[in-house]
Amino acid sequence: MEGSSLRPYLERIWEAMKTSVERGLAAEGILPGGLNVARKAKLLYEKRCYNESADVTMNRVIAAYAYAVSEENADENIVVTSPTCGSCGVLPSVMYYMYKDRGFPENEILDALAVAGLVGNVIRTNASISGAECGCQAEIGSACSMTAAAVAALYKLNIDQIEYSAEIAMEHNLGLTCDPVNGLVQIPCIERNAVAAMRAITAVNLSRFLYTTRKISFDEVVATMYRTGLDMDEKYRETSHGGLAVIYSRK
Ligand code: SF4
Repeated sequence: MEGSSLRPYLERIWEAMKTSVERGLAAEGILPGGLNVARKAKLLYEKRCYNESADVTMNRVIAAYAYAVSEENADENIVVTSPTCGSCGVLPSVMYYMYKDRGFPENEILDALAVAGLVGNVIRTNASISGAECGCQAEIGSACSMTAAAVAALYKLNIDQIEYSAEIAMEHNLGLTCDPVNGLVQIPCIERNAVAAMRAITAVNLSRFLYTTRKISFDEVVATMYRTGLDMDEKYRETSHGGLAVIYSRK
């Protein structure tokens, strides 16, 4: 998307993201596929602990939004690939939280989504966003990176802080394997989206203070992710022949 087509496209994307969060939060029941995985977004969203601190509430609510979208994907409903279906819960969950719970206006959310898209496109062009090609680091790592950049942009941090946020978010997903149990995008994928959403915020908080001390650039970490992915044994690239997929099936 370029020029005048970009904004209406982002609006469509944002509407679809919001709908996926809200539909996922309202749904209950068992996900299809035979693993007997129950939807948990609604439970997480509503199960406030007694005396819950603001930090715990933030983590719980963002996780609930990430579960909601990822469970919608697992249930074959409409989600936004951001950048993929498997990692579709990370960016929408944090953007929805910033909009709904933090009060950021939608025009600023759209700007942040554009930044996320830019980061995703750099990764896709220079490396990969495919779990089958480079493992989960390419999916969840990319989603985490896109989300961190979007949050940093939303906070009006400078360009170095935005780039460093994306770098941190990717760096600590390096080596992450893809080993979905039974080939279903449920275990470990759904929970992983929630963890990556929270990790993206941590990356921004570190970048905010430490960006002048950094040693590794975003481009370097993207190149590293790609090389690491190409080195990765096929067992860990969406084949379900390694990792959790094998351990779980032995139980
Ligand atoms: S484990 Fe594989 S299928 Fe699941 S989110 Fe990661 S890359 Fe996608």
